[in-house]
Amino acid sequence: MKLGAIEAGGTKFVCAIGDEEGSIFEKIVIPTEAPEITMPKVYEFFKGKGIERMGVGSFGPIDLNEKAGTYGQIQKTPKIDWIGFPLADSLSEKLGVPVTVDTDVNVAALSESRWGNATDVDTCLYITVGTGIGAGAVVNGQTLKGLSHPEMGHIGVRRHEEDSFSGACPYHQDCLEGMASGPAIEARWGKAGVELSEDPRVWEIEAHYLAQALVNYIYIISPERIIMGGGVMQQTHLFDLIRKKVVEMLNGYVSSPRLTEENINEYIVPPGLTNEAGVKGALGLAMK
Ligand code: ADP
Ligand code: ZN
Repeated sequence: MKLGAIEAGGTKFVCAIGDEEGSIFEKIVIPTEAPEITMPKVYEFFKGKGIERMGVGSFGPIDLNEKAGTYGQIQKTPKIDWIGFPLADSLSEKLGVPVTVDTDVNVAALSESRWGNATDVDTCLYITVGTGIGAGAVVNGQTLKGLSHPEMGHIGVRRHEEDSFSGACPYHQDCLEGMASGPAIEARWGKAGVELSEDPRVWEIEAHYLAQALVNYIYIISPERIIMGGGVMQQTHLFDLIRKKVVEMLNGYVSSPRLTEENINEYIVPPGLTNEAGVKGALGLAMK
């Protein structure tokens, strides 16, 4: 079956035609401008190609409540041209196929669970630490949704005792994203993370916040694996700092062989997929 897939990001739309196996036959990259400019190019690419279903992994926030009349609509976003744009409805009307939409991070989790570093488990969590912090989850093979989609980047965190930074989230100030995103690191230390590799204080504080978040996700979702991606995780030494703190913070409370000092390396891991993760995940979504 031919499927359509879109990775709809803040800077570009990656559109692809592929199949259930995750094979991609054709791909195009379209810059994200206003919907009136971007979307006609998207429709044009897919028209007449014989796709039967479509999956879209989108920037957000986006309405994912299938019971609401506004399913697949972009919500409040800094990209003001897109506020209220009916992404799912416009695609299904123009192309005449069913369209399933999910968040970029849920789609990344799905992609890792089908083709990446979580193919051997049923429940996994994907977190990206970049310009923002967002996480998605696959629970028993399905992406996690409810009222709309989870906002795991904005949970509260306990402050590090040596950290006096006020926080960078415009909504909550010192939430996880406000304390640990790439821009938060830059605002706290006056330099971008990439230039701070050698300063252990930076990563001690960063790991303190990220480990707390993972511990909370472990308590609430009980994932069988956690995948960490995004620009900040390019500091690969962070992985061991986070793993160590997660084991310490859990303090043996959750009994699982996956959460021991010996096995935590295989529990908290980098992504297995790189450049095609977004569109491949969107193919996975189209199959539902
Ligand atoms: P986005 O979140 O916009 O999709 P990224 O995941 O690349 O993009 O995140 C960008 C953020 O990650 C920036 O704040 C940048 O400073 C930070 N970042 C990118 N590369 C690195 C690196 N090697 N080390 C530390 N921080 C980085
Ligand atoms: Zn916040």
